Amino acid sequence: MPNGLVSVFTESGQPFELREYPTPEVEPGGILLKNTGAMICGSELHMWRGDGDTKPAPKPRVLGHEFTGVVHSLGEGITADSLRRPLKEGDRVAFPFFFPCNRCYHCTRGEHHACAYRQRRNSVGLDEYPYCDGGMAQYFYLRPGHYVYRVPEELPDSAVPPVNCALSQVLFGLERGRDHFGDTVVIQGAGGLGVYATAVAHDMGASQVIVIDGQPGRLEMARRCGATDVISMRDYPTPDSRVERVKELTGGIGADVVVEVVGIAAATLEGIEMVRTNGRYIDIGNIGGGSITMPASKVITNQVQWLGTVHYNPWIIESALQFLVRTKDRYPLTDVASHVMPLEKINEAFELAEWQGKEEGTSAQRVMLAP
Ligand SMILES: [Zn+2]
Ligand SMILES: [Zn+2]
Repeated sequence: MPNGLVSVFTESGQPFELREYPTPEVEPGGILLKNTGAMICGSELHMWRGDGDTKPAPKPRVLGHEFTGVVHSLGEGITADSLRRPLKEGDRVAFPFFFPCNRCYHCTRGEHHACAYRQRRNSVGLDEYPYCDGGMAQYFYLRPGHYVYRVPEELPDSAVPPVNCALSQVLFGLERGRDHFGDTVVIQGAGGLGVYATAVAHDMGASQVIVIDGQPGRLEMARRCGATDVISMRDYPTPDSRVERVKELTGGIGADVVVEVVGIAAATLEGIEMVRTNGRYIDIGNIGGGSITMPASKVITNQVQWLGTVHYNPWIIESALQFLVRTKDRYPLTDVASHVMPLEKINEAFELAEWQGKEEGTSAQRVMLAP
């Protein structure tokens, strides 16, 4: 088995180190992947900076969970993907970046996203077998039984990395929160997740997709992804004014569904006010964020269904791929990498992707590493 180059995350605020690690002997049913593209996700910028209360995790380790690759070697007995389509070396694949256990209360009920034993690459140190734990490295190992989907030919490489994080996450969130065809949907935040959420809501048949953000460029992208209305935080600088605007745009009722993909706790408090009575609030972005004091009586009397959502069920991956194929001429989502850089330039890539402390429009939109 080959050795592979790994960009090693040692500590927040420290540069990544490039080291070589062994790849594992591929077990029967396992698959060794050669990574081809890994996006720098916002959550990785959090870790790199050392923001907030990100959970302590073993170090050194490898980052990269929004990524894709090709089959390098197939273990004994595996000849097909999770939909029994033939799979061979060199095929491009998409897969969940976390490993549900498939043997627990939640997994047996088909709730893989809620499996208490699911393993994220974050929770594993690099000194632990099978070493290949992330996308910001040359190889990744899919354990036997893991879900894997062949990537349709129509999609360019750069469309695929966000499939297993940003796109699947919002698709799953909207799927859980969906109610009726023609719903009104508000998306808080038009970053990576926000524009996917906008397009997915539009494609699902929302009658109105209202997107809120502070940056004109992002709102423009949201419009191209199906936003029917945008609310610029420049024109509506206070939470109250934005809540008011949503009410105005929805005939005084509020939105059927509100999706939070901002990542700031205050956004949740604001967003809950935008939900109509008996509507749904899908909270996705505020994963490493701070606390808020919940207006309990308001949530109860307004009968808001608050759906905290993290991770997804495996079938979402195939839906995400098919969504991209079906809408590739409708939304500009198949070419989302603004910069592609080799793994050796990971430190430069993170500097480029960093937006905090920079003037608007000067940071790179979406940086992809090509290991
Ligand atoms: Zn991510
Ligand atoms: Zn499980």
